[in-house]
Amino acid sequence: MSDGRALARAYLEQQRLLGTDAVSLPPSGESPVDPVVTPGLRPGSGDHPAASTRSPAQPKADLPPAGLSYDPPARDLFAADPLQQVTTLAQVAELVAPCTRCRLCEARSHTVPGEGPDGARLVCVGEGPGRTEDETGRPFVGKAGELLTKILGAIGLERAQVYICNVVKCRPPENRTPQYDEIAACVPYLFRQLEILQPKVILAMGNTAAQTLLNTKQSLGALRVKVHRFRGIPVIVTYHPAALLRNPNWKKPTWDDVRIAHRLLDG
Ligand code: SF4
Repeated sequence: MSDGRALARAYLEQQRLLGTDAVSLPPSGESPVDPVVTPGLRPGSGDHPAASTRSPAQPKADLPPAGLSYDPPARDLFAADPLQQVTTLAQVAELVAPCTRCRLCEARSHTVPGEGPDGARLVCVGEGPGRTEDETGRPFVGKAGELLTKILGAIGLERAQVYICNVVKCRPPENRTPQYDEIAACVPYLFRQLEILQPKVILAMGNTAAQTLLNTKQSLGALRVKVHRFRGIPVIVTYHPAALLRNPNWKKPTWDDVRIAHRLLDG
């Protein structure tokens, strides 16, 4: 590190890893501007992200405008919580398997932590497991999963190249929407998975995934066609594949959303 800016970047990154306020700096080589320091919000707190709704990086001209930015505190290396100590996706899954943090453990057959390669550049996040997922322990394996595989294929991605998971890791009864306290109990697993993966792009599929990752109550319609950020990682919001099965009219807008994600992956 030869210049002051590089030293400042290293220091701020160290502070971020230690769990202090999230810090965003433009990539090296861009014209220097004041760093954006955003107070972290508590995961699952329900706080509206007004204070953290910033645009840490301007999107390219051919991309939609910047949206929300959510920067929950990073993991605490010294915390006693085992989840804060694990460093692999397999270890997260081991912690999920016996989990009884919320009532969704009562009727599950299998936990569904997620699946995909450690080095996945794209992470698709849905709401929660359905019946087939609960029976198999795998995410998106029913009709909605087949549709997701086709959507990914349309942008040249094999399903096996993508990490696929949900906000909650156990099936809500009758496939109801997960309740607030269930999401709050489970979301640390998702956040840890994203910390480990450090993907290039996150595709938030459906209201629950979008609102959880962006800590907002805004509707999916209001969140689409913007480049949001979760801890600096671009988040594109689109419809859940199960919703597409019910309403084929949403396939075209979904295709538009996925192409935005594709452009970000290639950028
Ligand atoms: S939904 Fe999440 S928090 Fe609730 S029991 Fe399952 S793994 Fe644990």
